[in-house]
Amino acid sequence: MAEPNNAYTYIDHQFDVVVVGAGGAGLRATLGMAEQGLKTACVTKVFPTRSHTVAAQGGIAASLKNMTPDSWQWHMYDTVKGSDWLGDVDAMQYLAMEAPKAVYELEHYGVPFSRTEDGKIYQRPFGGHMQNYGEGPPVQRTCAAADRTGHAILHTLYGQSLKNNAQFFIEYFALDLIMDEDGRCTGVVAWNLDDGTIHRFSAKMVVLATGGYGRAYFSATSAHTCTGDGGGMVARAGLPLQDMEFVQFHPTGIYGAGCLITEGARGEGGYLVNSEGERFMERYAPSAKDLASRDVVSRCMTMEIREGRGVGKNKDHIYLHLDHLDPDVLGERLPGISESAKIFAGVDVTREPIPVLPTVHYNMGGIPTNYWGEVLNPTAENPNATVPGLMAVGEAGCASVHGANRLGSNSLIDLVVFGRAAAIKAAEVVDKDAPVPHLNETACDAIMERFNETRYAKGGTPTAKLREKMQKAMQEEAAVFRTQETLEAGCKRASEIWGEMGDIAVTDRSMIWNSDLVETLELQNLMANAITTVYSAEARKESRGAHAREDFSERDDKDWRVHSLATVSDAGDVTLSYRPVHVELIADGIELEKIAPKKRVY
Ligand SMILES: Cc1cc2nc3c(=O)[nH]c(=O)nc-3n(C[C@H](O)[C@H](O)[C@H](O)COP(=O)(O)OP(=O)(O)OC[C@H]3O[C@@H](n4cnc5c(N)ncnc54)[C@H](O)[C@@H]3O)c2cc1C
Repeated sequence: MAEPNNAYTYIDHQFDVVVVGAGGAGLRATLGMAEQGLKTACVTKVFPTRSHTVAAQGGIAASLKNMTPDSWQWHMYDTVKGSDWLGDVDAMQYLAMEAPKAVYELEHYGVPFSRTEDGKIYQRPFGGHMQNYGEGPPVQRTCAAADRTGHAILHTLYGQSLKNNAQFFIEYFALDLIMDEDGRCTGVVAWNLDDGTIHRFSAKMVVLATGGYGRAYFSATSAHTCTGDGGGMVARAGLPLQDMEFVQFHPTGIYGAGCLITEGARGEGGYLVNSEGERFMERYAPSAKDLASRDVVSRCMTMEIREGRGVGKNKDHIYLHLDHLDPDVLGERLPGISESAKIFAGVDVTREPIPVLPTVHYNMGGIPTNYWGEVLNPTAENPNATVPGLMAVGEAGCASVHGANRLGSNSLIDLVVFGRAAAIKAAEVVDKDAPVPHLNETACDAIMERFNETRYAKGGTPTAKLREKMQKAMQEEAAVFRTQETLEAGCKRASEIWGEMGDIAVTDRSMIWNSDLVETLELQNLMANAITTVYSAEARKESRGAHAREDFSERDDKDWRVHSLATVSDAGDVTLSYRPVHVELIADGIELEKIAPKKRVY
């Protein structure tokens, strides 16, 4: 028997702003909101400095020109080209123009960036970042704190947020958004994992910064906590998710373990070879070579393996060489990956190559927003309609700056630029003196009913088993290369698994540190992301960025330069619609012809 809802202890809170998530995006938003005097709460399921951002190694892109010539225009061009012309031009321009400011702010907040001889912020080359509108050699644009950039950023932003009196609710699991009858978001319900209490936050603005959903796949570089909870909440509120078919595979996940070897390794001079000892990237991308963008390198590696030139006993992976590099440089600039290679591949990088394989790394898709972080609910009449009271930033969101493919080091900059933009916008739209919205108890009851049903679920399928089934289906059917056949099979499998969610078995009924229940709630969120991913992919009959179809191998700008929007019903029915890409500039300084669509070669 399910317990009645009134058996829960409710604790009610009122804030101007509630940020859900304490990764780079959530913390930058929290800090910005608190700095402007908004009463701000940050709710997070893990301790802030354990968010996945902590694992970011390579760095953060901004055209500081410390080591090579550079400009925001070149950064914008590379981002547009990287996105395979699916990104929104206004958002990409905002990112490139604001990036230097956002990095200097981080420096002033205290991020310990690596330095050049003369004391400037050190910058390294990264894939797809070039000089002179893609014509010149690689640019050094990626600012780094050795290979622990995310770690340094998180610790700094957390300290600064505390200093500005943001209130943290740590190890609280956000369950769902509280929506009112008019479609406004008025708060969020969260479960305190430590004492089992349920918290109802009323707020004038809710900001989702819950990160990506890499764990929808079997092999991913992301933390086990990357379960797309924000996307799940948005989907349950009946709102669409955007461009979900675009899933980035990072070329260099460690074979077997899946953990990441940063692209910075190739930025520092590392290169890939096949079983014939050939540096095959020279053949596919004569100018950028190993530093072509990630989707391109991942596809080339997959092709080498398919054609029988993979390395190892099963010829199913590729080697990454760093052993020709100066051990001092490795020790100074890439200490973390030297350690990862030792622990997870048993390899000494100064002597041997690292076995690597393309591994799921980043979700370009997510909750649609404009470049102020305001969540969009596009309609045919108004493709830019926003959802009052709701914002999304970071990997959870889709602004869309990465379009069909994100460039390395463009995510960390996205987190801080748009975290900051959300705070600027909130200061404009949130009235500190206005009353906090009335608590919609009916909506809260519905949220707790779902929670209760899950807590007392007594079906026959353990959560871990169903999760693995989903992860394998995604890995097999929505991979680096896709066809109508695999995608149709993927849709079928995802829908079946959605159905099997009704037979889930939760064995622990307690409210204190119930990891069985947490993982089941996370699986519900993952499923909303997974099913929209594969249905959006099946529908898109072209190849663009990370979405590579063997049966539609060309990009089709006439029919498909549009963002996909996918909603999913309680029963698991996915409905697709589309909205136009934003093609307007927000400031002078670059001609539209410069960034007009053309063939994407590196
Ligand atoms: C191994 C690795 C290396 C990377 N390296 C780089 C790099 O060098 N440069 C770069 O630009 N990008 C890099 N990326 C990508 C980048 O790090 C991520 O896209 C980015 O850190 C995501 O940040 P975020 O703030 O959106 O989310 P996250 O850092 O994932 O944080 C999510 C937050 O949401 C909270 N949360 C989630 N669900 C809930 C819930 N239900 N209730 C309460 N709280 C919740 C979590 O507690 C957490 O605080 C890397 C990614 C990986 C996986």
